[in-house]
Amino acid sequence: MRLICNRALAALPAVMAVTFIVAGPGALTPRAQTPKRLALVGGMLLTGYEVPPIHHAAVVIEGNKIVAAGPASEIKIPADATVVDTSGRAMLPGLIETHGHLIVLGHGAYETWFPWITAHGGDAMLTRVMEISARQLLMAGVTTTIDLGAPLKPSLSIRDRINKGDVVGTRALVSGPWIARLSGPGAGGAMQVGFGGFNIASSAEAAQKVEELAAAGVDHIKAHSGLTLEDYKAIVDAAHRHRLRVYAHVYAETDVRHALEAGVDVLQHVGSAGTAPPYSKELITDIVNAGRPVVVTAAHRAWVYQDTAEFPERLQDPDLKRAFGPDIYAEVQDSLKNWWTLGYFQRTDREMLYRERGVRQFIESGAVMGMGTDSGTPMNFHSEALWREIKVHVDMGMTPTRAIAAATRVNAQIIGKGRELGSIEPGKLADIIVVNGNPLFDITALSHVEMVVKDGAVYKGGPPVDAKPRSSGIAPPR
Ligand SMILES: [Zn+2]
Ligand SMILES: [Zn+2]
Repeated sequence: MRLICNRALAALPAVMAVTFIVAGPGALTPRAQTPKRLALVGGMLLTGYEVPPIHHAAVVIEGNKIVAAGPASEIKIPADATVVDTSGRAMLPGLIETHGHLIVLGHGAYETWFPWITAHGGDAMLTRVMEISARQLLMAGVTTTIDLGAPLKPSLSIRDRINKGDVVGTRALVSGPWIARLSGPGAGGAMQVGFGGFNIASSAEAAQKVEELAAAGVDHIKAHSGLTLEDYKAIVDAAHRHRLRVYAHVYAETDVRHALEAGVDVLQHVGSAGTAPPYSKELITDIVNAGRPVVVTAAHRAWVYQDTAEFPERLQDPDLKRAFGPDIYAEVQDSLKNWWTLGYFQRTDREMLYRERGVRQFIESGAVMGMGTDSGTPMNFHSEALWREIKVHVDMGMTPTRAIAAATRVNAQIIGKGRELGSIEPGKLADIIVVNGNPLFDITALSHVEMVVKDGAVYKGGPPVDAKPRSSGIAPPR
């Protein structure tokens, strides 16, 4: 094994010798750099397709694009390339999160989190929180995130500042406020208000809100709860006129049915692994036959709860302390003191009963499955949400190769960026991560992200060079 690799390296012209810097969690101050040509050489390559890995591989990047990928022995490394030795590691496409929330970061309760933000700087604190979340995601190897619900201005601002290189963070595509139809306490509740949701009273108003969001420049629409079939239809019609995708937050069978029939593009939660009992065979079959993607967001309630019961120490991960700063860390710790009493986990008993069936019914059906986590919800930290979600899918019977494809290539297709993102092949944007370990053998290797390349720029690990990252190569939605 070494031989092939060494031969490949020896065959290189006199390249700049660059040490592969292994950063301890949070040890590096991530500084982006944009070498003209970058080559990652020696490690195993998972391309994002459901095929066996390429061993002792090489990936060549020019600017922000991948120009070559394959066995190192067959890839010509340009003489002026900066070479990073990835021997003994696995390389795979940057992960994509199809359900994140940058304005929350694991705090235990929305009813105290949002007032705390208001009392501690308001917009300035909100901005800081979103920056922290975006950075946590990127350092965890999540190079693209679909944000599904936050006030409009801060959403657009964080997206644009990341793209300009002013903020180090995951590439964010944002919905801004979600659209819901709520009555009673939910209408003015902490969640609806804090996430900045629109509460509509008619289908026409729902369509109007889509028009406003489209005009403001959002990347997609989030259809939240309480909506009728007519509401979904109005939202989808308006959104599709602007070529915006619609993500629906659906649990109950009737809501899933309505969203499916109205042509919603991605069904999110779909029971969240037990919140709603398993769906009828007929509904699952219709979802499969329609080819409509589902994102189960399985781990964030039932599994996170049990994992925390087994290892409450996870709540005091020093990485969180470093990422949050003392004030936010103290507030989050305070909110999680009696984490098992939190309202967010009220339904965990029922979820525990149905959670496995809730995930398996989709895996076994052959449905198009993406991967998303509701990242940022209570105890569901951005630094680990996605690898936990992927692990649940693998534990429930999805092969590691399929689970990685779901979190990369399939996710890219689901979000409408299949031509630019999601796989390691010439022509794609250079979003690549390097992990310690073989994720095909042990999927939790995805929790050991040593190097992150986004848009051709190195944000973690690799040669430390000061430079501003280039702007995202992603085309605007319209
Ligand atoms: Zn949701
Ligand atoms: Zn959500």
